[in-house]
Amino acid sequence: MTTEKTDQTATSDPRHTPQGAFEALRRGNSRFMAEESAHPRQDGARRELMTTGQRPFAVVLACSDSRVPVEIIFDQGLGDIFVIRTAGEITDLSVLASLEFAVVGLGVPLVVVLGHENCGAVNAAQNALETGELPSGFQRVLVEKVTPSLLAARAEGGDTAEDFERHHVVEIAAHIVDRSPQILSRLREGTVGVVGMRYRLSDGMTEPVVNYGLDVPGTPGQPLN
Ligand SMILES: [Zn+2]
Repeated sequence: MTTEKTDQTATSDPRHTPQGAFEALRRGNSRFMAEESAHPRQDGARRELMTTGQRPFAVVLACSDSRVPVEIIFDQGLGDIFVIRTAGEITDLSVLASLEFAVVGLGVPLVVVLGHENCGAVNAAQNALETGELPSGFQRVLVEKVTPSLLAARAEGGDTAEDFERHHVVEIAAHIVDRSPQILSRLREGTVGVVGMRYRLSDGMTEPVVNYGLDVPGTPGQPLN
């Protein structure tokens, strides 16, 4: 890993603004949905260029689910997205450190939290709530980290898997903004945006559910405390 920023094309690239980065991901996801993926920046020249440094335009914290491969569903290439994946897109200190490495160390202007339809981690937490039984071993951590999102969703009247998946993304995004002063200060400056999305396995759409510091139709921006 390197913090060098030697991709010379990046300086005037509109993707290196919070809104521009979001629009680039949205366009890529639209291509993927339409089965018109361009598979950009995946050739030998790009690979060679990337040996000298990286300047990704987005950092994505996604679920590890094998059906949610980040570069494929956003139709991006080498050096475009800094990806962190955990089951249920849960956070811990290592995840927060990786997020700050991307935002502060690499200057990434957009943080994405990506949940998805039929998430096993959310389903496990839902089962634990309903049956009172916890999974064994370290899988218990998944339930412990996802359950607060489900309780928050229930408090607002949510009771479906979709409600829980959406609310979990909202909670994780809020947690990142709350826990990282470095990301919060960049949000206040307008140099970083945060968006939470839920990927639909059924049609490939990444639907926005929450945002900070962006203009996302149908998703009111969250105020900063
Ligand atoms: Zn999942």
